[in-house]
Amino acid sequence: MTVIPHEEMLLGDNVERIIAGYDVILDGTDTFETRYLLNDAAVAAGIPVVHASVFRFEGQLTTFVPYEGPCYRCLYPTPPPPELAPGCSVAGVLGVVPGILGLLQANEVLKLLLGIGTTLAGRLLLFDALETEFTELTLRRDPACPVCSDEARARRDRGEAPATAAFPAGAPFVLGGAGFGGPASLGGSPEASA
Ligand SMILES: [Zn+2]
Repeated sequence: MTVIPHEEMLLGDNVERIIAGYDVILDGTDTFETRYLLNDAAVAAGIPVVHASVFRFEGQLTTFVPYEGPCYRCLYPTPPPPELAPGCSVAGVLGVVPGILGLLQANEVLKLLLGIGTTLAGRLLLFDALETEFTELTLRRDPACPVCSDEARARRDRGEAPATAAFPAGAPFVLGGAGFGGPASLGGSPEASA
C-alpha cells in the first residue's frame, strides 16, 4: 500500500488535480462545501464516491456511482441552513459511530474495486446507534440535477460550466455543519423501502 498525503485544503481550483487517477473516493468530509465540491468534481471525473456522514447517534452511508445512480446533489440539492446542521463540535457524535460507518465504507470500496456484490448506489443506509437499527431508503437520480443530469453531462461535454455555483471556487469553507441535518434535510426525495 502506498499512502500519498495531500497536505492542502481541498478547493475548487485543486480538487480536479487531487482526485485525478483514483479509482474510488471515500468521502469523510465534515463540511457541506467540501461535500458539494467533491461530488461535483467526482461526477465530472467519473469516479465513484463512497459517502458517509455522522451526527450524534446516527450515521448515513451511500455510494454515488456517476450516471449509474444519484449523486450528492440529487440527494441534497442545496445545503441545509446552518441552524439545522450544527457541527460535531456543537452537536457531538458518539465515538463508535464514525468507526462503524468507516468499516461499512471500506466494505463498499472492496465491492467496487473487486466488482462483487451489490453496492449502495441508489440506496441510503441509515444507522441508529441508540436503537441499533439500520434503515434503507431508495434514492433516485434527479433528472434536473445540475451536476449529473443528461443536460448537465451534455454541457460538460461541450466544455460549458455547470449550471451550479453553490460555492465559489477557491473560497474558504465557512459553514460549520458537519452533520446531515436530520430528517428535515431529506426533503422528501428519498423513499423508504422495506
Ligand atoms: Zn446528481
